[in-house]
Amino acid sequence: MKTPKIVILGAGYGGLITSRQLEKSLSDGEAEVTLINKHDYHYISTQLHKTGAGTASDDKIALHIPNLLKTNKIHFKKGTVQNVDFGKKKVYLDSGDKIEYDYLLISLGFDVATFDIPGVEENAFKIKSFQSTKAIYNHILRQFAAYKIDSDPSRLTFAVAGAGFTGIEMVGELIEALPNLCRAYDIPFSKTRIITIEACPTILPGFDQEAIDFTTTYFKKNNVELMTSTKIRKCSPTSIDLDNGEVLPSKTLIWAAGVRGNFLLEKLNLPISRGRIPVDEFLRVKGVENVFCIGDAALCMKDEKNALPPTAQVALQQAVLCGPNMIASLRGEPLKPFMYHHKGTVASIGNKVAVGKVFGLKISGSFAALMKQVIEARYLLMLGGPSLIIKQLLKIKKPYTDVSTVSNQK
Ligand SMILES: Cc1cc2nc3c(=O)[nH]c(=O)nc-3n(C[C@H](O)[C@H](O)[C@H](O)COP(=O)(O)OP(=O)(O)OC[C@H]3O[C@@H](n4cnc5c(N)ncnc54)[C@H](O)[C@@H]3O)c2cc1C
Repeated sequence: MKTPKIVILGAGYGGLITSRQLEKSLSDGEAEVTLINKHDYHYISTQLHKTGAGTASDDKIALHIPNLLKTNKIHFKKGTVQNVDFGKKKVYLDSGDKIEYDYLLISLGFDVATFDIPGVEENAFKIKSFQSTKAIYNHILRQFAAYKIDSDPSRLTFAVAGAGFTGIEMVGELIEALPNLCRAYDIPFSKTRIITIEACPTILPGFDQEAIDFTTTYFKKNNVELMTSTKIRKCSPTSIDLDNGEVLPSKTLIWAAGVRGNFLLEKLNLPISRGRIPVDEFLRVKGVENVFCIGDAALCMKDEKNALPPTAQVALQQAVLCGPNMIASLRGEPLKPFMYHHKGTVASIGNKVAVGKVFGLKISGSFAALMKQVIEARYLLMLGGPSLIIKQLLKIKKPYTDVSTVSNQK
């Protein structure tokens, strides 16, 4: 009998942890598994804001995928998925390669939603991938270097669109990074501005009032200008137009105002809802045979009206079930339904403080920051065991002033 082929698209949170499950539970020779990802590194998406501000070294955020695979049960293939023919059961890569599958997992993650606001797609910097956040950092360094020559204040005005989870985390890293950059470039810190622009009347939607108050006070203490109930009308490389008529001269708009499913999903000829692929209770794509979808790419309903949010926590829990469900499918065994258990949410504001709720307990300040590190360590434990945690802890941050050679693609 032919060995069944399992193909996983995307080595993010969902794809990698599913691979881990398959490594653990597949018998030798039971299936051929191929993991396909755009790059040969896995980036820890929940820490991309640190790459954007240069507050973590690259090797803490981007991990070489072949090193993360423990056994030879998974074959890694670097490639960009262009399309899938669900009738022929083939995945098409931009290299021209065609990969056959019997069982497919779509875990291609998120894209940034810019809501067709003029100029955002072309001019704003996105927190989307390792490359895109590296581009933010390189741009910031260039602004500091150029300010030394022309003293243009718009170079040191850093605006972040969106005061939700990601936006707040990005601002927190900027608060930490800018004083160090000022020292490195010998520029008075008073010349820098951080502006948060949020369309809603409040920051951190979904968080408790205590968390909102803590963050607002922390921002004030650190001179962050907070503009709530303010919409961005358009942006250019040098300015941001607001709906209150104000035009902010700034060469840096960091977009943290929304995510959606990967744009590629719309090309796949599958039903799409809210930019994501609806899945059934077993995490299978409705209407196609042996195709699963998890993480930010999947629209997984919490109840009749509400979908689960696009978070790593959801992707990880789905991955832990998806691996066994894929194996159950190929063995002809019954599949288990997905049940989500919300353990809490913690948003970091730099390295030293955070806010959130864990197991129903409201936390803020340095204890919350410690909890955030525990959450991050738990992921590393799932990914590579205690040795990966130690390896990551030993990695040392390099100085601030080197413009990286990683592409500047926004
Ligand atoms: C700054 C930031 C902070 C966050 N903080 C938190 C947090 O604290 N807690 C939390 O629960 N969630 C958080 N999230 C959300 C979390 O990161 C995502 O929900 C999670 O990454 C989703 O996992 P995924 O596997 O679906 O996608 P991803 O982890 O995004 O992985 C998708 C993978 O697919 C690859 N890929 C994409 N397109 C292609 C293609 N065409 N061909 C081949 N490969 C492709 C990508 O390179 C990537 O490796 C945060 C997100 C951001 C941006």
